[in-house]
Amino acid sequence: MARLAGADAQTARGAAWFTGGPGTVRRIMSWRRAPARTLPDDAAIASVVGRNVRLARDLNPAMQATLLAHTTELLQTKRWEAAADGALTDEAMITIAANAAIPILSFDTWPYRQVKAIIVRPTAAYGNVLRSGPVAGTYTDTPMGTIGEATPDRGPIAISWDAALHDSRYPALGSNVVIHEFAHKIDMADGYADGVPPLRGVALDEWRTLLDDEYHRSEPQPSDEVLRPYAWASPAEYFAVATEVFFCRPAELEAAKPRLYAALCNLYQQDPAHDRVPPLP
Ligand SMILES: [Zn+2]
Repeated sequence: MARLAGADAQTARGAAWFTGGPGTVRRIMSWRRAPARTLPDDAAIASVVGRNVRLARDLNPAMQATLLAHTTELLQTKRWEAAADGALTDEAMITIAANAAIPILSFDTWPYRQVKAIIVRPTAAYGNVLRSGPVAGTYTDTPMGTIGEATPDRGPIAISWDAALHDSRYPALGSNVVIHEFAHKIDMADGYADGVPPLRGVALDEWRTLLDDEYHRSEPQPSDEVLRPYAWASPAEYFAVATEVFFCRPAELEAAKPRLYAALCNLYQQDPAHDRVPPLP
C-alpha cells in the first residue's frame, strides 16, 4: 500500500524545506526546468480532460466551461517542472491542472495565488522520513513513498503523475492527490497549515467548533470511516482528506458527516452531492 503509506509526509518534508540541510539542497538541485514549450490548445485540453478527469463529466455546462478556463490559466500562469527522473507531458500538466480546478470552480484562481510551481514526478518519491513507529513511543525512518507534497508560503507542490492519473480516473475510490495537495495550499493561505481554512466570522467559528468535535475528540465514531485514517494524522490532514472526499464521494460524506459536508459547501461554494449532472445510466 505505497499509496496509503505515502499519502504524504508533507509536514515533515515541508519543515525540511525551511530548515535546509543537504537533503533540501539535493532536492532543489534535482529539479529540471521545463524547456520553453507551446501550451496545448483548447481542443487538446478538452480531449485530455474528457479522457482522464472523471469528475469533470458530472459538471453542468457552465462548470465545465469554468473548469477548462481555470485549467488553461493554471497551465499559463504556474511554473510546471519535471523532476529529474521524469519528463513533463502535456497530458500530465492538463490532468493535474484540471483536477486542481475542481475546488475553485466557484472562484477565480486567486485561492492558488501562492502556488508558484508544480513539480511532476513520474511516481512516488521514496525517502527516509522520521515518523511515529508501529508501537506507541517508537519511531521509524524506514523508506516511505510520498505521492504528493505541498510546501508553505510560495513553495511548490509536487505530484506523482501515476497516482494523479489513477485518482483522476477513479474518484469513487475517494482519493485525489491533486485535490489533497491544493487543499493544503488553501489551508496555508493564511500562513498556517493548521487545518483551519480561510473562513471568516461565524463560518470560521463553526469550523473551529467542528474541528474540536470531530478531530480532537478521543472516541472514534462509526461515521469516521468515511474518511481514511490518515485524516487523523493532524488537523491539516483532516482538512485535506475531507476535501478529497467532499469532491470524490460527496453523497457518502453528506450522509456520514452532514456538518462537515455543510461547512465544506460553505467554504468551496459548491454542493457536489446535488449540483452535479447525474451520470447517464
Ligand atoms: Zn497531506
